[in-house]
Amino acid sequence: MLSSRGVLATGQETRKHRVGTRKSSANPGLNISRRDFLNGAALGAGGVLLGAAAPAAAQQAFRARRPSLAPDWYGYGGVGDYRLSHGNTPEVVAAAHRLRDGEFPASLDGLGDVEDYDLVIVGGGLAGLGAALEYVKTRQSGQTCLLLDNHPIFGGEAKENEFNVDGTRLLAPQGANGFFVPPAVSDPERASGDARYYAELDLPREFKLQDWPADNEPLRFCADNYGYLVRGLQDNTSVGHYFRGGETAPGTWAVDMWRQRLANAPLSAASRKGLWQWYQAGATRRFDSDAAAIAYLDTMSYAAFLENELQMRPEAAAAGDLFMASACGLGSDAVSAYAAYQLPMPGLSDMPPASLKRYSFPGGNSGYARYFLKRLIPDAIAGQVEFEDIITGRINFAALDRAGQPLRMRLSSTVLRVAHDGEPGAADTVSIVYTRDGEIRGVRAKAVVMATGGWMNRYVVRDLPAAYREAYEQFQHVPFLVANVALTNWQFLYKLGITAAIWDRGEDDFGYTCNIRNPMQVGDYRPPLDPGQPIVLSFYTPFFYPGLPVKAQCVRGRTELLSTTYAQYEEKILAQMQKLFGSAGFEPRRDVAGIILNRWGHAYSVPFPGFYGGASGRAPRDVIRQHYGRIAFGHSELDGLQHWGPAADEGRRAFTQVRDALQG
Ligand SMILES: Cc1cc2nc3c(=O)[nH]c(=O)nc-3n(C[C@H](O)[C@H](O)[C@H](O)COP(=O)(O)OP(=O)(O)OC[C@H]3O[C@@H](n4cnc5c(N)ncnc54)[C@H](O)[C@@H]3O)c2cc1C
Repeated sequence: MLSSRGVLATGQETRKHRVGTRKSSANPGLNISRRDFLNGAALGAGGVLLGAAAPAAAQQAFRARRPSLAPDWYGYGGVGDYRLSHGNTPEVVAAAHRLRDGEFPASLDGLGDVEDYDLVIVGGGLAGLGAALEYVKTRQSGQTCLLLDNHPIFGGEAKENEFNVDGTRLLAPQGANGFFVPPAVSDPERASGDARYYAELDLPREFKLQDWPADNEPLRFCADNYGYLVRGLQDNTSVGHYFRGGETAPGTWAVDMWRQRLANAPLSAASRKGLWQWYQAGATRRFDSDAAAIAYLDTMSYAAFLENELQMRPEAAAAGDLFMASACGLGSDAVSAYAAYQLPMPGLSDMPPASLKRYSFPGGNSGYARYFLKRLIPDAIAGQVEFEDIITGRINFAALDRAGQPLRMRLSSTVLRVAHDGEPGAADTVSIVYTRDGEIRGVRAKAVVMATGGWMNRYVVRDLPAAYREAYEQFQHVPFLVANVALTNWQFLYKLGITAAIWDRGEDDFGYTCNIRNPMQVGDYRPPLDPGQPIVLSFYTPFFYPGLPVKAQCVRGRTELLSTTYAQYEEKILAQMQKLFGSAGFEPRRDVAGIILNRWGHAYSVPFPGFYGGASGRAPRDVIRQHYGRIAFGHSELDGLQHWGPAADEGRRAFTQVRDALQG
């Protein structure tokens, strides 16, 4: 039975009564607690079924619709400001699917109050926040802006989870999580990407991590959820590779496998040789310009580059899969060699120095989103403009959408339709239809920035020219799942001498990797680093199926992500942990305090061969980066490898393209 402590601890006694106990059918021995109570708000919003002709009836029909996902799909959300928004919510998924299926409103006609703004930004991720920052900085007196986002909290894929395990507050990323401190710049206005925003928002350059006592076993910790996968940096983490056993033989661990030059890996001599050749390979090609690199490398996948250009064994491409899929969605067979060159991967770049430091804010890149918000609407986060307050303070939701302020941010608002009021070249305004609280609402603006992904824009923007539609159709989006498991203790990892695990995945297995971070210490937020104390174990889980066409891989992954219930994932995760850590004493009922699933249906746009323009130099994204009429597009996927600073750059670029339309 589940311990009677009610370990999940929302911090409230009532929580104990809301968490049921259930025997897992697949793993009766686990006797897992159900931490997947339905978040009440999650089922209220309904979908999209409208007709302009009969608005009242349409509104009624609209309210009657319910999300199509299983009621136990979403699951437990933790505590704090992000508890109702972990990954895509059920109503976001339902609305997106109804849009795709053509159930949409025709116009603003018949809708009640239609608000007027100078600018509407659709999307509250880093791109939308980048657009908003540029607007706020350059805005003329009297100009107004409304930012609409479909999730209950801003940040897009840069959000966080919060647990309270027996009184210990633990934050963890929902998606985007790690960073290198960029070089300092004296004039942010002349810089771009990470360096520009890091300086402009005045982020700190040094951080305090938790001390690891010298009298403990000498473990090494990653500070984020990626570093242990990066060639050259993974030696800074105690990484265990788990190799499956046979029918009767148990699996085996190879700890610090790369550090040991694969000597402890249960592989054939030929495989070891092939892998080591790949791992060590430096830059084998030099290019005079980025255009030259694209013209050559963007014509082939990374796997093809390794096998055909460098004559490496297939193990090399397979070894590259995991990091590539974690960083951009699919493996070596599907991703452009140019993206691999940028990442950087063996054979295309030299080994990065182990001294490079990666960090992760307590909630991952939600830290960046929160810095943007503090600048945009200062009282939206309680406290001063200081690191501790911004990173750990509570959100003042009432401050986001107040009448009269230059920027209003409206959450839980799914935009269904955007179109010019007339010919795009001649129209004075753009109409925006969105849904909030089960109601259909309308806004009119002089200009719109679409800071959402292409999977959405091609359905939402109704007068999208054919060239844009064709360009967007070439984008391929893959899903991703981040499962954060709050542990009451991590003695089982300590016993194995590891802080990160990578496994040789079998057919029925869950995931590929997991790790605990050395938690950043921020003011009074001081999570422990002690095997006997709570911590979050994060499973970053891509969906990739080498050998299938890119689109088929994306569809298969999304089907699995959407059709698996919370309970099924819970079972899979705990069974996987049992398999990996059972021999080291892992005991789910004692060691697991709670699980939050963060499911991202369109997490990454895959930079497939040709994404950057290939030999022709014509890239689909070049079309999307043009504005038409009063609508411009800015989102991170246009960059190929999605990243926070370039995401904000894309939003800023899109805003500047339509800024003049705000006048008059
Ligand atoms: C698992 C994972 C790990 C990552 N790790 C890192 C990392 O370590 N470092 C890094 O820099 N980047 C990382 N990224 C990349 C990350 O996606 C980008 O850095 C950036 O945060 C994306 O910003 P965006 O604004 O372009 O998109 P998003 O963050 O997706 O924001 C778009 C917003 O628009 C909303 N929206 C969409 N359609 C509508 C609609 N119709 N109406 C209203 N709102 C809508 C979306 O729901 C979302 O909130 C990671 C991504 C994933 C998925």
